[in-house]
Amino acid sequence: MEKFISISVNQGDAFYLEREERKILVDGGKSRNGFPQQFLRTTNSESIDILVCTHADADHINGLLGLLDQGFSIAEVWLPGAWTSRLEDLINRPDKFIFEAGIEIMEKDHGDESNLEEIDESTNPDCIENVTPDEPCIEISKIYSAIETQEKNNEWKYRFSFEPLFYHQIHKMLGRDRDRDIYIDAIKTAEKIREMAILAYHSGAKIRWFEFGQKPTKNCGEKYLRPINSRETFQISKRKSALEYLSLSKANKESLVFHSPTENGRANVLFSADSDLAFNSNLQKVGADSIITAPHHGSEHNKNAYQELTNNNVITNESILIRSDGKYKSRPGNSYLQSVAKRACTLCRPYITPKQNVIFESNGKGWLASKDLNWCKCK
Ligand SMILES: [Zn+2]
Ligand SMILES: [Zn+2]
Repeated sequence: MEKFISISVNQGDAFYLEREERKILVDGGKSRNGFPQQFLRTTNSESIDILVCTHADADHINGLLGLLDQGFSIAEVWLPGAWTSRLEDLINRPDKFIFEAGIEIMEKDHGDESNLEEIDESTNPDCIENVTPDEPCIEISKIYSAIETQEKNNEWKYRFSFEPLFYHQIHKMLGRDRDRDIYIDAIKTAEKIREMAILAYHSGAKIRWFEFGQKPTKNCGEKYLRPINSRETFQISKRKSALEYLSLSKANKESLVFHSPTENGRANVLFSADSDLAFNSNLQKVGADSIITAPHHGSEHNKNAYQELTNNNVITNESILIRSDGKYKSRPGNSYLQSVAKRACTLCRPYITPKQNVIFESNGKGWLASKDLNWCKCK
């Protein structure tokens, strides 16, 4: 029996899949302290074979940090390859690294950007280019050496955003409120990435990295979990500026997307994260009766993703869109609401029905909803 659960986190995504005797968790919602208990209660599972972090946004990564922090047994952790670009610097000298981001914020004229992600939208997208041949390849193991050295110095749990010194510096450095907000967001993002890498390493899990924007090879990932918009990488990603690194790591459009196929093509799952699916290599393989996690919690900002899914015949009246979200007036948008797919939410707007874990099972012939499932009543 295979099982899919959209865990009803209060904000964000947390999708659990049992397949081929593997337990997979894609993202962990926003509650770092609450998620580990909720995960146990909902799945009855005390171990995870593959834990995937799709991007560094709080409503996806925080719960995962909680699981790692509380010592859950996790065999593999799959992370965005782009994080490797500056991770060594971020681990060795976090203060210096975020200072670099601060200088960039100060020197940059931001136009209309008011948050970290919008900065990314305004920078040029050459971050997804292949490493040029003359650029030296650096093995990822260098990052692990940096993490080990940190442990020896007993500094590895140093949480730099709580340092009053930095807030003082921020106020001195950045005059405009908007710049300060961007900077604080950048610091928090840096902190999450750093901590995720350190906790994952010390958990003893095998860490695997998936570089966004690279065409996946045929056997990339595992046969029950394949990347859609990334490829497994073993070398440190192209160097980015500190600000570019942080904005791209948090950016929705660089979310990792994975597909869980089955041998007979029935009851697949597409984990869309917050992606706009603009870079996709093999959506066609997803299959018409799949579960598709609603891109970006059903946000209309990602209408391109819904278009891609429709154009590739992934969304049909046989498919099931599953939306995990908290209370937001603006979500879901029309692309989700008007889709021909069957739909279920952890929480429907306007919140008349209680929030729910969305549970489906399959005996190999296709997904079956749990008896008490409430289908989407969003308006
Ligand atoms: Zn999200
Ligand atoms: Zn709904």
